Amino acid sequence: MAGFAEDILQAAEAAEAEIQEAVRALDRIVDLNQWKVIEAFQKHQVSDFHFAGSTGYAYNDRGREVLDLVYADVFGAEAALVRPHFASGTHTISTALFGVLRPGDELLYITGRPYDTLHKVIGKPGDGTGSLADFGIAYRETALTEEGEIDWEEVARTLTPRTKMIGIQRSRGYDWRSSFTVKQIGEMTAKVKELAPDAVVFVDNCYGEFTEEMEPAQVGVDLMAGSLIKNPGGGIAETGGYICGRRDLVELAAYRLTAPGIGGEVGAMLGTTRGLYQGLFMAPHTVGQALKGSVFAAAVFERCGFRTKPAWQEQRTDLIQAISFDGPEHLIAFVQGIQRAAAVDSHAVPEPWDMPGYEHPVIMAAGTFIQGGSLELSADAPIRAPYIGYMQGGLTYSHVKYGVLMALQSMRNRKLL
Ligand SMILES: *Cc1c(COP(=O)(O)O)cnc(C)c1O
Repeated sequence: MAGFAEDILQAAEAAEAEIQEAVRALDRIVDLNQWKVIEAFQKHQVSDFHFAGSTGYAYNDRGREVLDLVYADVFGAEAALVRPHFASGTHTISTALFGVLRPGDELLYITGRPYDTLHKVIGKPGDGTGSLADFGIAYRETALTEEGEIDWEEVARTLTPRTKMIGIQRSRGYDWRSSFTVKQIGEMTAKVKELAPDAVVFVDNCYGEFTEEMEPAQVGVDLMAGSLIKNPGGGIAETGGYICGRRDLVELAAYRLTAPGIGGEVGAMLGTTRGLYQGLFMAPHTVGQALKGSVFAAAVFERCGFRTKPAWQEQRTDLIQAISFDGPEHLIAFVQGIQRAAAVDSHAVPEPWDMPGYEHPVIMAAGTFIQGGSLELSADAPIRAPYIGYMQGGLTYSHVKYGVLMALQSMRNRKLL
């Protein structure tokens, strides 16, 4: 067993006692979501034969078709497109945006600067990369207010008759702000519809799935997207993404993923189908394990004097736990400690590097079964002031606890704690 300092173990024990009530509340969300998923499987009579893969064009792949129906039901949407052909969350979101937007249209993000990897999707006019801007699609954003809320006056000023799509990012991403709950997203959507009745409201739902009882598509959002190597893949899906929402918009996204006129009618699933179903089945439970781990992490880090977001007792709407450190040394010790706790690649020592798509050097701990799978315990931090580390995921609560203890011990070993 790892040698943890006595006071670190005591802080962990006290934190665990403190979070009992919060953990029970999370169990109730897990139950509701687990039952919802099972009932959707039952409604569509999911059977062994749905799990067989398909090859070639894969016309009439019933497993693929039913998977779309199950996802649509679980997320309360008219239609869904769930595919292993989405290479990442960014690819999935990009497909949704390119599916709907046309030259001359405008995309307006109302939750401030979007996730780092989307900056190059948005692009700059004339950048020659095939970005939105390169295709003549304008982009605007409104910053959040000091209180972390939507700046509605600014939104009203920024809307133009060309604003075709409104972007909302549910999760904090790499930002020290609060994430937006489904209820808040519902209120935002209603307000947007007052200001711009024809605008398509799009939600980047990454990291949000199954953290609450409802999903954005159930509160009026037109289209949303996420990654299968995050929450809804349950740690089992090996790759992919989903887009769901209004039927006409999902179809446009499908045309962009494959080709106009073809859409979701083709696409070999190869051997991925069972994993996508089983992952969805597991997802409510696994997300619950990760959330409990995050609540524990927040409680312990707070005891050790660090600022956290969300604080342990705050309501959660995504997997990300942000912790504010005093400088780069703490940040690096934290991320390296998380890596040390992994079952896979614990011998690797992460260092900051210039990762494609990110604007600052990033240090990442990822000892995962699925490369980059962030429903698995992982930690990332862009090396930039104010030195915030982000941890997320954990297929089991015990693993998260082990990782947090390792991170604290790694700071202690360097006399930072
Ligand atoms: C992870 C994430 C993305 C992008 O997903 P990748 O799989 O990293 O490309 C986009 N938005 C948010 C909020 C995310 O958390």
